[in-house]
Amino acid sequence: AMIRVGVNGYGTIGKRVADAVEAQPDMEIIGVAKTQPNFEAHTAVKRGYPMYAAIPERAPLFAEAGIEVAGEVDELVAEADIIVDCTPSGIGEQNRELYETHHTPAIFQGGESADVADVSFNARSNFDAARDADYVRVVSCNTTGLSRVIAPLEEEYGVEKVRATLVRRGGDPGQNSRGPINDILPNPIKVPSHHGPDVKTIFPDLEIDTLGLKVPATLMHVHALNVTLGDDVTGAHVRQLLEDEDRIYVIPEGLGIDGAGKLKDLALDAGRPRGDLWENCVWGESIGVNGRDLYLFQAIHQESDVIPENVDAIRAMFDLEDKETSMQRTDRQLGVGI
Ligand code: NAD
Repeated sequence: AMIRVGVNGYGTIGKRVADAVEAQPDMEIIGVAKTQPNFEAHTAVKRGYPMYAAIPERAPLFAEAGIEVAGEVDELVAEADIIVDCTPSGIGEQNRELYETHHTPAIFQGGESADVADVSFNARSNFDAARDADYVRVVSCNTTGLSRVIAPLEEEYGVEKVRATLVRRGGDPGQNSRGPINDILPNPIKVPSHHGPDVKTIFPDLEIDTLGLKVPATLMHVHALNVTLGDDVTGAHVRQLLEDEDRIYVIPEGLGIDGAGKLKDLALDAGRPRGDLWENCVWGESIGVNGRDLYLFQAIHQESDVIPENVDAIRAMFDLEDKETSMQRTDRQLGVGI
């Protein structure tokens, strides 16, 4: 039987999760819940997703906008086998009680604090930790990007310490009130930043320090990584290791891809939905080694790298497939892999 999935919060992440779930053979979208009948609500209707009112008093606004409402969010939660909560940071925590009331398992996103769920999840790193769990948090875009690199390095060489500088986009393309629009902000100013502890929700024993900045960009984040490995390595060996990862795209030399803008163009040229880049994009030329110290640059598409992870989390929670089978199926159905 297909797993019946509801999405609560149909914004940047929610609309992508809905399409990704719908593309899988073993799960389906039975409805999405929204607070307001904006353009994304009309997108949901065009996609054929039944619309539920997240705030019951606002249901009439949907009718006025010509959108038929299938019911209230309560009913969606009661009907669904699982809810993927994609509401803004902090709202997921408030919603947990609603899910518990209906005994409906739920997935939360990385904007929530780790204690919203029993398990923090990255498919490549700890798929089995989510097996049979009722409440799982798919970690943030940055933590997902870091985890995908750390997992193979840890398995192959052992990791002594990770140091990462995260150059973060000021906001997503539609978030026109965010910034800075002309500045370079150490952000958070306090170092090391909170991003390292978040990675430790996936790798509890890892030594990691992170620093964050915010810049006037909307396209992607860029990470500068230094990883002290357990063994002396060669750049070529590390490169091969990363090339073998399906959710890492090692950008070849010679393509002229010198930044996030051209990566986004590559995705749009390929006809990818919403120009999404589900993979970490590691510049091959940047993979440099000095003894046990590895350096590299990677770009992370904040709007989409967590999407395949949400699909895999559903399979883990319902014990549908093993890790490799799930990840491969997700990737095939979405078109992950450049
Ligand atoms: P968003 O603002 O684009 O979308 C959130 C949606 O939820 C909006 O449609 C909003 O109207 C709706 N909403 C608000 N209150 C609601 C409620 N009470 N019930 C139901 N729906 C409600 O936000 P987003 O960027 O998609 O972020 C969602 C979560 O994903 C956050 O935890 C965020 O930290 C995390 N996340 C975001 C990104 C990113 O870069 N955008 C990346 C990874 C993880």
